Amino acid sequence: MKVSELNDGDELTYLSEPDGSVLECLEKGKTYKVETFNGSKIIRCNGIHDKYGHSNEHFLLDSSMINFDRFIQASGGWIGVDLDCTLAVYDGWKGPYHIGEPIPAMVERVKAWLAAGREVRIFTARVTERVTNRDGTPHDIVKVRQVIDEFCMAQFNRTLPITNIKTWDMMELWDDRCVQVRPNTGVSLADELEAIRNAEAPHKYPEK
Ligand SMILES: [Mg+2]
Repeated sequence: MKVSELNDGDELTYLSEPDGSVLECLEKGKTYKVETFNGSKIIRCNGIHDKYGHSNEHFLLDSSMINFDRFIQASGGWIGVDLDCTLAVYDGWKGPYHIGEPIPAMVERVKAWLAAGREVRIFTARVTERVTNRDGTPHDIVKVRQVIDEFCMAQFNRTLPITNIKTWDMMELWDDRCVQVRPNTGVSLADELEAIRNAEAPHKYPEK
C-alpha cells in the first residue's frame, strides 16, 4: 500500500517502520482516518507525537516513510504462513495426514503476531481440492483440515484459518518457495542482494 493509493476516509489502525516496529506516536488499537490537508495525505489525532517527539495535531503521511506496504488497514489484513518447510519440517512425503515437527523460530513468530492481534492464516496447497492424494488414495480434505487444526491447537492453543487462496488484503506471505520481487520491476531481491555483494567485494571469493 502506497500513500498515493490511500483515499480520504480510509482507516488505518497503525503504521510501522521498515523493520516492522510500530511508530510510537500512534496509539495501538485506535483507528485513524486518512484525509487530505493542504494537498498532503494526513491522519489527524489530538496530542499525537511524531517520531521526533514533536506534538502534532496531524501526522503527515509522506514518502520518506518507506514501508507503506506495511500499513495495516482497519478493514483487515492477514499474514499467510505456508505449512510444509515453513511452519513444519518437511522431509519427504509421509502421507496426506502427516505433519512434520514444528519449526520453533516460525512458531514463535506466529505466536508474536497473534499476541499483537494480527490475523494469521495457514496458506497451504494441502487444502487444494482434488480427487486423489499423491499416493493414489482418496483425498479427504476434511481430514486434512482436521490434522492442521490439531497442529495449530498444539502450537498456538487455537485453530487458524486454512486457505490456499490469496486475497487483496493478504499483507505478507511467508513461504519457502516465494521469490520476492521489487514492485513493478521484475527484479528479485535475491538478485539485487547478490549484485550488491558482488559490487562490495568483487574479489572476496577467489576462483577455484
Ligand atoms: Mg512449503
